[in-house]
Amino acid sequence: MRRIGLFGGSFDPVHQGHLALARCALAHLALDELRWIPVGQPWQKSRVLTSGVHRVAMLEAVLVDEPRFVLERCELDRTGPSYTLDTVRTLQAATPAATWFLIIGQDQYANFASWHGWPELLQRVTLAVAARDGCVPTPPPALTEVAHQLVVLPLPAQPVSATEIRARLVAGAAALELKSTLVAPAVASYIARHRLYCGNA
Ligand code: ATP
Repeated sequence: MRRIGLFGGSFDPVHQGHLALARCALAHLALDELRWIPVGQPWQKSRVLTSGVHRVAMLEAVLVDEPRFVLERCELDRTGPSYTLDTVRTLQAATPAATWFLIIGQDQYANFASWHGWPELLQRVTLAVAARDGCVPTPPPALTEVAHQLVVLPLPAQPVSATEIRARLVAGAAALELKSTLVAPAVASYIARHRLYCGNA
């Protein structure tokens, strides 16, 4: 049985915290592949995201080095709100004989009971949760009463968020001067080349 990790996010932009989490999941879960799933229509976020073309290009720039990383475009190609449950149903129907892990940070785990169709999702995947911002993986109240498969990922603290990166750029930081602990050099170059996140894109 193939072991497949699913890693969804805005990736606006993809940053070193995402990459550290993905590498940790690959190793700890012994995955055959890890699918990165940029969100199409993020129904839980009010902010307008950077176009999928740019978010995909930045992902492609960092995924090339690891053959088990795969870009999964299904949420970008679908219309309507991007429900993870729809994505999981579709991918599982296409590859029935596999073991599935959904990789998330603690901020998403804490929020999990607000996800569309979350009880069915818990039947379909093992959650692989990493600490974030000093918060260790802890089930939210609604999940303490529901049996679910959970793996805690041993991810060291990754003090980075896309919000912080965008804020620095809006405040005038030069993309090429962003520390490589925040974004990969290839992503910094892409942001600079396309003048993203500085109000002039
Ligand atoms: P934003 O700041 O725009 O909300 P973000 O940095 O949280 O973005 P997302 O693309 O929304 O990034 O996150 C995708 C997934 O990666 C989520 O499950 C999130 O919890 C996880 N994640 C992102 N950054 C980290 C981090 N620094 N440590 C652990 N998990 C993270």
